[in-house]
Amino acid sequence: MTQTVSLSSISIVLVKTSHPGNVGSVARAMKTMGLTDLRLVEPKDPLVCQHEEALALSSGAQDVLGAARVFASLPDALDDVNLSYALSARLRELGPVLQNPVQAAAEGLSRLSEGHGVAFVFGAERTGLSNEELLLCNRQVYIPGNPEYNSLNLAQAVQIVSYALRQQWLNNAENNVEIRYPEKVGGKAAVRATGKAVTDLRDHWVKTMEAVDFINPKKPKKLIERLTRMLARVELEREEVDMLRGFLSDVNRVAEGRLYPHEAERSKNSLDDC
Ligand code: SAH
Repeated sequence: MTQTVSLSSISIVLVKTSHPGNVGSVARAMKTMGLTDLRLVEPKDPLVCQHEEALALSSGAQDVLGAARVFASLPDALDDVNLSYALSARLRELGPVLQNPVQAAAEGLSRLSEGHGVAFVFGAERTGLSNEELLLCNRQVYIPGNPEYNSLNLAQAVQIVSYALRQQWLNNAENNVEIRYPEKVGGKAAVRATGKAVTDLRDHWVKTMEAVDFINPKKPKKLIERLTRMLARVELEREEVDMLRGFLSDVNRVAEGRLYPHEAERSKNSLDDC
């Protein structure tokens, strides 16, 4: 899949939404995942985007809210859209092809990269999407939650879809460069320890356990195997190996009754003074 696409080209369409707070929360859910195109079809309050509650709940996404467009009907909102996904938890006998959010995100982004207009359509809080609205769409997306209670809040449903889209988008290595994990923010990527460094650490650790009589070298039981397995599982970084080896050296030093080099020097000097 060629994915030099922008998530901001994907439209989120809310049909007949009644709670201003939900519209604000939707804007926030979208912006956190990189989506920006919000379309409102017949909102209960046509000025909902200026509503105090919508503004408050949109938080840092007031730009998305401010740029939202209002449409008189669903076909109007889908005028430039070639592939539309209707979000609904209600399964109908004669509904559109059914997908989950992950499948829909994969297909939607693929179509977007081919130049198609793609939209995800969400129903009103109380009534959801009507049969007619559902059938205007090409696919039905069902979020497979708890079968005993699977009716998500509108903004949370938008969040799940937006997240699925973003994960799919990030699968493309070119887009992935923008992820900033904490270790990258510091500007210093962690260096993993080599297998040899980890084996040397393990041997040092075993030697120390013997030095403090934690294990009997003649009968180590399963301890060494467990330790080896644990160290392999953790995927240690080079600095972590250095830190642990420094600690083990000190334990050994204390166990053998040796002093730190600078302490040894100091006590030698004080003996000289006598
Ligand atoms: N009471 C409504 C549900 C409204 S929830 C009903 O029975 O249909 C508001 C919107 O969130 C829904 O219209 C739908 O677009 C979306 N949604 C909520 N839960 C969902 C789910 N499990 N799968 C797909 N969409 C869901």
